[in-house]
Amino acid sequence: MPPEEAFHRFFLRPERTQEEKQRYCGRDELWGVPDDQRAILTLIRDDINSKWAAQRTSLLRQDEHPLLHFDYIDTRHPPVGTNPDGRFATAIAFENEGVSCVGVTRDQMDEISWLSWRLAHTQRILDGFHIQPDQQDSANHLGASLFSAQCLFLTSHELGHHVHGHILADHSGGAYSEFEPSDQLTPEESLIAQRKEIDADGYAVTMCLDNFHLLEGPRAEFHRGLGKPSQHPRSDRWLLRLTCLAAGAFFFSRRGERKLRRHPPPLVRMHFVMNQIHAWAGRNSKPNLAKWATVSRFQRLMAAVEGAIGMEHQEIDWHDQSKFLLSPGGKEYREILEEAEAPVRDLYAPRRWKVLPRAGSRGGSEIVR
Ligand SMILES: [Zn+2]
Repeated sequence: MPPEEAFHRFFLRPERTQEEKQRYCGRDELWGVPDDQRAILTLIRDDINSKWAAQRTSLLRQDEHPLLHFDYIDTRHPPVGTNPDGRFATAIAFENEGVSCVGVTRDQMDEISWLSWRLAHTQRILDGFHIQPDQQDSANHLGASLFSAQCLFLTSHELGHHVHGHILADHSGGAYSEFEPSDQLTPEESLIAQRKEIDADGYAVTMCLDNFHLLEGPRAEFHRGLGKPSQHPRSDRWLLRLTCLAAGAFFFSRRGERKLRRHPPPLVRMHFVMNQIHAWAGRNSKPNLAKWATVSRFQRLMAAVEGAIGMEHQEIDWHDQSKFLLSPGGKEYREILEEAEAPVRDLYAPRRWKVLPRAGSRGGSEIVR
């Protein structure tokens, strides 16, 4: 069965709940999408799938290289419950017919596009890349780079759930949706769920850093568009900032997350992203990256993301989170999450994939222990 067919059929399985049937129609064929948008969406899909085709040779699922597929999910846009405008920005990781799939809705792609535009038109963000207010072409290129970095972060995060063995091959197909309400979770389930998010984020950070810091192509393209030499003394810093902004936008964009306990608060996730950057920098002998990734820089960067996105959009009180994280209770919370790393990984060890070292990276086996 072709992977796109396995992707499509997942949504038609008889055990789909009424709610799922109300939301999802299957694979989005992109009918009715304006030609230019359709071309971009197709390009992104093909790009991710070809990256994954190359990546699968360094992954082992039960001793076989997994078949990976990325695609768009067609939604019915039901104007119900907490979703009165009918928009449905979501990402799902699942397995069907032996294919490990990641799907996102077009509303989610719109969200990423909007966030990129906002960030690239905020002078405080542009200052970080030495882009002056009159350098519109550079700002537009930064927007495009942020868009691809966010796509890479989001899809790698979802793939990270697969790699870490979070997708259970049960009768449901093991759907792992990012945006499901989780009010019913017990404190222990909530801790496990949050820890899984941190591990998936860790995979995404590693993929972004590998992509921007170890491959010449993405690096050269980014600098060319910005009108800067690719061996600029600040190159590594700019590329790291790109990854951090992609992660930050991804964490902050979640609508209506405030009451949910499946995902840790954005600032907690950024704390773990920072740890991941330090570990990656150590493995790849890039001490300058670790030096740049400090708590105060991250706080400033996140404040800029918050300013760019706007409070009314992201529904999260950053100042409350910041205050909480600096409090003894916040420190204790982070420690609990840190201590949960080994037990939660043990829990999913039977289904975890092996990651073989890739050429140019020494990160391999350390990404997933
Ligand atoms: Zn996730």
